[in-house]
Amino acid sequence: MEEYAKANAIPIAQPETMRFIEVLIKSTNAKKVLEIGSAIGYSAISMAMCGASVTTIERDENMLSVVRSNIKKYAFDKRIKVLAGDALSVVENLSGTFDFIFLDAAKGQYPEFLPHLLRLLKDGGILVSDNILYRGMVATDELAIRRKTTIIKRLRAYLDTLCHSDELTTAIVPIGDGAAVSVKKSSNRQ
Ligand code: SAM
Repeated sequence: MEEYAKANAIPIAQPETMRFIEVLIKSTNAKKVLEIGSAIGYSAISMAMCGASVTTIERDENMLSVVRSNIKKYAFDKRIKVLAGDALSVVENLSGTFDFIFLDAAKGQYPEFLPHLLRLLKDGGILVSDNILYRGMVATDELAIRRKTTIIKRLRAYLDTLCHSDELTTAIVPIGDGAAVSVKKSSNRQ
């Protein structure tokens, strides 16, 4: 799958980010995972291999057909559910809670996703937001390129919200393209 993604210029989570996510899922014994942005199913399958049931959302028709065929090929049909459509609309209609959420979709939309993800994340659950440093451009203006200004601003605003949220404790981890790891505080805390 890594080779297929490379040959077809499909952005997938970097291997070190995936290993990090696997460690988080295994160490917290997360069983119910929500992913925003399936692409070809590389990360969904990696997370399912950790023993979790994964619900993954994708809007691109070509990606949907590849992810469905990969899930079948690797026999994860029972463990991975693919939801088709724009994730912003799809999450609005999701109920219940998840132990772990992996946000890996259009970076400019991250701020809009957050209220929904907070609702869907259980107390003590983990949210990983990928590409948070966006090739270093979010960390420093020296690397920023002008045509990415809007995305950079949105990612900075998103990070600011994550880091100042009363509901989350967040660390920024400079792994892969940068990952923000947030844990949802218990609503019963003193
Ligand atoms: N998580 C995948 C992996 O590591 O294997 C890679 C996901 S790729 C970086 C981002 C994917 O999110 C693309 O396939 C894109 O079509 C999808 N996407 C972006 N914004 C979306 C949205 N609002 N709703 C649904 N899918 C979205």
